[in-house]
Amino acid sequence: MLIVMNHNASPDQIEAVKAQIVEIGFQPCPMPSDTRMAIGIVGNDGAVDPGPFQDLPGVASCIAVTSAYKQVSREWRAEDTVITLPNGTRIGGGELVVMAGPCSVESREQLLETAEHVARAGATVLRGGAFKPRSSPYAFQGLGEEGLKMMAEAREKYGLAIITEAIDHESLELVEQYADIIQLGARNMQNFALLRRAGRSPKPVMLKRGPSATIKEWLLAAEYILAEGNQQVILCERGIRSYDEATRNTLDVTAIPLVKRLSHLPVVADPSHGTGRRPLIAPMSRAAVAAGADGLIIEVHRNPDKAKSDGGQTLFPEQFTELMTGVRLVAEALGTPVQTNPFALQQA
Ligand code: PEP
Ligand code: MN
Repeated sequence: MLIVMNHNASPDQIEAVKAQIVEIGFQPCPMPSDTRMAIGIVGNDGAVDPGPFQDLPGVASCIAVTSAYKQVSREWRAEDTVITLPNGTRIGGGELVVMAGPCSVESREQLLETAEHVARAGATVLRGGAFKPRSSPYAFQGLGEEGLKMMAEAREKYGLAIITEAIDHESLELVEQYADIIQLGARNMQNFALLRRAGRSPKPVMLKRGPSATIKEWLLAAEYILAEGNQQVILCERGIRSYDEATRNTLDVTAIPLVKRLSHLPVVADPSHGTGRRPLIAPMSRAAVAAGADGLIIEVHRNPDKAKSDGGQTLFPEQFTELMTGVRLVAEALGTPVQTNPFALQQA
């Protein structure tokens, strides 16, 4: 339940509502806005009786929150969540953000060269995995902390923010020290202990949709993070498993406008994992932008044919530049500003 206060409610009246929430055994979650204060009730599983609240001084209304994923829902918070990164990138405020880089960090040269290219083409966030969740235990598992250091160097050099995956508690401890956004991968979407740990991190988290997860399961997974206190969550649609082997996954474009209706959290699309096939990435990027995605995350490598992971779905640098041209045209047609990288502007 959400208790909406009158716009002129006094601090004492707000405190009295919070005390009443504690009295019935739950926690108050104050949500100030420009016009009025709302206080959410957390900790309850099921409906809360509005009786003890509706006649308290200063209370305007009590709104039942019907979604199972409460704090993630638009009922809880009507305005879009906007996440601001240290390099000024804003995610979720109606502008388009582009994240790009290799699937895995493989070497300093590979990363810096790719980072420079994506920054020049206009990306503002660099992706690159240092801890890789691989289907085979014999496949390349990532460079670990060395890879994170390379990501940090690329951030400094090219004015980027960095996003990188944590696969367990141990890697999360390290990733949160380096990253601007912690990525939680599709395979970990329902690793509830890891979600809770990420919910206690001060860093924004990007939660990828599980390969077979329903929208409700995905939003409930995000709720685990918010319930621990971390409100900076980005949702990433990265394709779901279907019967058709013609693509690696099926990018669920419908999920983009749907989730944006259900939730205030930003939604980013990953057409690289979402299709698994290089020629499909640019068209599906344009489709995702047209569907209202707040951002894209794209795999790019200086030489994808030599990539240690996901080469077949990774763009050559020039293909990424072309993708950006098409994406900008679609964004412009929709009146959506595309975030720019100051490094690219300096070089122009
Ligand atoms: C990745 O981003 O490289 C990755 C492993 O993604 P996902 O978790 O969506 O498979
Ligand atoms: Mn990948």
